[in-house]
Amino acid sequence: MKRIYLDYAATTPTKQEVVDAMLPYFTEHYGNPSSVHKFGRDNKVVVNNARKTIADTMNAEVEEFYFTAGGTESDNWALRGVMKANSKKGNHLITSKIEHHGILHCCNEMEKEGYKVTYLDVDSDGKINLKELEEAITDETVLISIMFANNEIGTIQDVKAIGDIAKKHNVFFHTDAVQAFGNVRIDVKEMNIDLMSISGHKIFGPKGIGGLYIRKGVPIKNFVEGGAQERKRRAGTENVPGIVGFAKAAELIYADFDNHVNHLMKLRDKLISRVENEFEYVKLNGHRTDRLPGNVNISFEFIEGEALLLSLDIAGVAGSSGSACTSGSLDPSHVLMGIGLTHEIAHGSLRLTMGDVTTEEDIDYTVDKLKEIVDRLRSMSPLFESVTKGGKA
Ligand code: PLP
Repeated sequence: MKRIYLDYAATTPTKQEVVDAMLPYFTEHYGNPSSVHKFGRDNKVVVNNARKTIADTMNAEVEEFYFTAGGTESDNWALRGVMKANSKKGNHLITSKIEHHGILHCCNEMEKEGYKVTYLDVDSDGKINLKELEEAITDETVLISIMFANNEIGTIQDVKAIGDIAKKHNVFFHTDAVQAFGNVRIDVKEMNIDLMSISGHKIFGPKGIGGLYIRKGVPIKNFVEGGAQERKRRAGTENVPGIVGFAKAAELIYADFDNHVNHLMKLRDKLISRVENEFEYVKLNGHRTDRLPGNVNISFEFIEGEALLLSLDIAGVAGSSGSACTSGSLDPSHVLMGIGLTHEIAHGSLRLTMGDVTTEEDIDYTVDKLKEIVDRLRSMSPLFESVTKGGKA
């Protein structure tokens, strides 16, 4: 049976070249980079070469990039580390209502510990208001943390403008770029980014490896204590195969960046235009143009997202729902609520995200199946019938 994976925002397959690059570091080159013998010394060089490869993709200095166990750890480290190290200045941080839980849940915990957090609203496209951001800054504000691109609706923020505001007010700026890295060109210097989280498994690299860019001179406390790895800032024996794979994946994606992005944009735009032309009662969520190249998020009115997802899965297409029912909660996603959708419309949302091996045929097959499924589900909906027959919803 045909199986089409359209959930690349959740995770990506690890590229064969990446796996090939990693394998010798499990078997032949297994040295601990902290060891003084040749096995260790060689791997220390390997880790630092990988660091340089990744730092180069974002115009950072090699010593400004630190490996972590993933995007979530990087997010937590940035928030807690910067707030703790700058407690003399204040205890206020500013974020948005549509951040990933790696930021939001960390902020919720920090509030219980006495930190003050402002959660900025976003508009119906998912963008923060720069004026509101500037007005939220007080003498106590230490950090602004606004995601580069949203994982559900794909909206890309005006990151350089946020960086400029942070710089003007002498506040640090962290961005969660887990979804943007590999899909957007990022220049941390030009964009005035002080800290940035990234992750390996979103860019066709391995899971459980990520990193935090920390601009030279930004005061930050450690998050993981122990040995002297990562220049005494992030303890724990380095995940050498993961680090090698992460760097290989970053190198590959940026070496072929224009092709990668153009391919995804073409598929994304085809999917959006077919759905908008061929379906009634649909709404594209997220910004139409400032949007991740491989992200489509659409609400289908009069449909339950879970029913849509399950039917698609049976038809061989793997997507993701906009509501959080899969995680055992009946609440719709905070992102869809954040852009002002009603519960009903948020519940009928579907996220389809594409990757390098996705083809136009995959998109056509998916839309054809979607058409059958949406028609069938709506034909069973009394609400849909009453609305289309001129009744009141
Ligand atoms: N931030 C964003 C925007 C994400 O999309 C994700 C993963 O879904 C994360 C953080 C967490 O990254 P990781 O899975 O590497 O912990």
